[in-house]
Amino acid sequence: MTVDLQRRRVFQSAVAGGALSLGAFVPTPVSAAVARAAADIEVMTWSGCAVNCGSRCQLRVFSKNGRVIRIETDASGDASASTIDGGCTQIRACQRGRSMRQRIYAPERLKFPMKRVGRRGEGRFERISWEQALDEIAARLKDTIDRHTNESVMIMHGSGNQALVNSSAATYRFFNMIGGSLAWYSDYSTACIQNAWPYLYGRFDYGGVRSKAAGQGSYFSQVKNAKLYVTFGNNPAVTRASGGGQSWEFFSAARRNGTRMVFIDPSYSDTMAGRNAEWIPIRPGTDAALCEAIAYVLITENLVDKAFIDRYTIGYDEDSLPASAKPGSSYRSHILGLGPDKTPKTPERAAGITNVPAERIVRLARDMAAAKPCFISQGWAPQRRMNGETQSTSIAMLPILLGQIGLPGTNSGAREGDSYGLDAGLPTGANPVKVGMPVFLWPQAVVDAASLTAETAAVRGAPALRHNIKFIWNTQSNTLINQHGGINQLRPILEDETKVETIVCVDTQMTPSAMFADYVLPDVCHQESIDLMADSYAVGDQNYLMLSDKAIDPEWEQKPNWEIMRGLARRFGCEAAYTEGLDLEGWVRRLYAEARKNLPGMPAWDEFRRTGIYKYRMEGDSGIVMEDFRRDPDKHPLETPSGRIEIYSERLAEIARTWKLPEGRGQEIHPIPRYVPTDEMVQVDPKAKQYPLEAFGYHGPGRTHSTYHNVPWLREAHPDVVLMNPVDAQSRGLKTGMLVRVFNDRGALVLPVKVTPRIIPSLVAFPQGAWYRPDEKGLDRGGCFNVLTQLKPTPLAKANPSHTNLVQVEKFRG
Ligand code: SF4
Repeated sequence: MTVDLQRRRVFQSAVAGGALSLGAFVPTPVSAAVARAAADIEVMTWSGCAVNCGSRCQLRVFSKNGRVIRIETDASGDASASTIDGGCTQIRACQRGRSMRQRIYAPERLKFPMKRVGRRGEGRFERISWEQALDEIAARLKDTIDRHTNESVMIMHGSGNQALVNSSAATYRFFNMIGGSLAWYSDYSTACIQNAWPYLYGRFDYGGVRSKAAGQGSYFSQVKNAKLYVTFGNNPAVTRASGGGQSWEFFSAARRNGTRMVFIDPSYSDTMAGRNAEWIPIRPGTDAALCEAIAYVLITENLVDKAFIDRYTIGYDEDSLPASAKPGSSYRSHILGLGPDKTPKTPERAAGITNVPAERIVRLARDMAAAKPCFISQGWAPQRRMNGETQSTSIAMLPILLGQIGLPGTNSGAREGDSYGLDAGLPTGANPVKVGMPVFLWPQAVVDAASLTAETAAVRGAPALRHNIKFIWNTQSNTLINQHGGINQLRPILEDETKVETIVCVDTQMTPSAMFADYVLPDVCHQESIDLMADSYAVGDQNYLMLSDKAIDPEWEQKPNWEIMRGLARRFGCEAAYTEGLDLEGWVRRLYAEARKNLPGMPAWDEFRRTGIYKYRMEGDSGIVMEDFRRDPDKHPLETPSGRIEIYSERLAEIARTWKLPEGRGQEIHPIPRYVPTDEMVQVDPKAKQYPLEAFGYHGPGRTHSTYHNVPWLREAHPDVVLMNPVDAQSRGLKTGMLVRVFNDRGALVLPVKVTPRIIPSLVAFPQGAWYRPDEKGLDRGGCFNVLTQLKPTPLAKANPSHTNLVQVEKFRG
């Protein structure tokens, strides 16, 4: 028998009351048997999964005797409902959320507060009490702030818990009350596009189409109006897998309209398989060269929408260049070879760079010009490279040249848009510290903060950083080591206790990052505490708010992050301000009540607790990016200095003139979008003689970044392997299943190889996020791709170039 949580509460209180009245003083066999029977009832509790896949999904958690016994997902309403018909879909969890039980009961689960006893990174800890842990951490934090100021404190938040209260919001709320922390900015996912696009479009609006005029793309539902869909490095079937997410919306729209799809990608993805889709294989990092060649065809065959260009852009040709620009520096001049390099960007030239045949480039350009509306987009893979900034803006040039922006069935060239519903969450307050740098540079801020300046490292809020990082609070995050670049170069920095003096990790699992902590504090899983979960950045035409109720008590001494930070607030004398007189459930109820003021259709709290989810659609949103700008650019200008799309950016020209860039091929900043070859590309780097393969890490279905790595079901379903083309495998005598060693100057890992024509020759790929597990010789046995990546950042965004790596692969003989 299964009962829902509400009925269980009533039943259990009745049992407790009965036990009191019947047996408070004399326990009887009957009352004990009733209590046992009550515990033995299978109970269903509404819960959810809120990790950083872009979605949040509803889970129905079935428990018995205080243990989760199975997990199902949203089955409410019509399973075939589609957002493009005005409906709301089921918020069905993917295999990761449904395997949550193995995460709750994983052997790696953190059970008690612990303190390091071995060398840092060695992984030896002793159990301590919560009192001791928080007392000692508070004392060390006060001491660090006294000696080095709050600018020496870095909060590193990951994506292990993205619910509304127990997430890193609680951490920031506390730290902002005690003077703040280093104000780093940007992220590991979209740093190049989010920093490059404001120069072109005025902003990169991660908040979605609904709220602003430019930046992030149109909703997937607009594909229902498009004749042709062209995308670069985008695999939504895997990266937007949730029932509440966008792939269902995308596939429904494309199927309904019969939209033809073209995918430009170095690998054949699950999104293409079995669909009306064409794959154009391309060498990684050369998308911008392909875009230049498409532009060449459009310009020379008079297919550019000149009326759009003239009204909405500057810098396309010499006539619209700003006065400060040198003659010959327009985009058109660059494409036609009239600029400084005197090289026309012909399809034949691009074919030699991209491996896409010239005639295919010409046909694609003509198809894009003829098939209007044309929805042009990119995933985030093309911009996770050393030339990621210009990759992303070069792709954006295609809808600009074609005038395919701001109309039904069109897009800005960005990834598909997201709508975000309610702007809700535990208030964090403002960070009093205003000085910060791009997040990827934090290891340099540990070693030599003063070397990070506005000109060398895009530091904001001051000419330079003033204090080395001395205290790291790593919350629900594996970026301390696993998800950063250049693990083997980063490791000695972390191991040196004279550099970062204190590292605290809050997590549910003993991750590779937690191994480098001085104190480890055990967090609860979603199912062990109450919280709210709102939709996130992978929703289009529908929105929702979910309850994640407490299904079971933590089995050990785990505490919700909100409680952990409350304990610290008590030690800093700000507990009352932190709690505002509310406990955790009180905050959940307050946030719900505030949300209800904005959405009066939401049910009362008791009804919400009974049903577990509220789905809704916001009105007045076409889902078309830059629609207002297209309608009237004078009334709705972009946030660029000119108010227009700045194909030539004077701001970038100034940065190119004043910033100090490191040595190396590709360390360039240009005022117009263009192809920039870089180090660690096979065709241009002499190191390719030694390391002849390029390598990148992709998002697979078996993890969300590194979350869910330690779930045996998922590892069995999606084993970590190196993907390799048969041409490369044959020349090395490799067959599927063989163990191979993948290595470069920075590190080495061992994994089985999978030989497949779904990846182009001269490239190998790994599902990113595997947990780092080095042996005594430093060889990574866990398959963590970041032993091969680099600490050197991209030129403009100072981002992680995680897809730009040269490697060699050989049979493992260890
Ligand atoms: S990982 Fe993402 S898609 Fe999968 S269940 Fe969790 S929230 Fe949903």
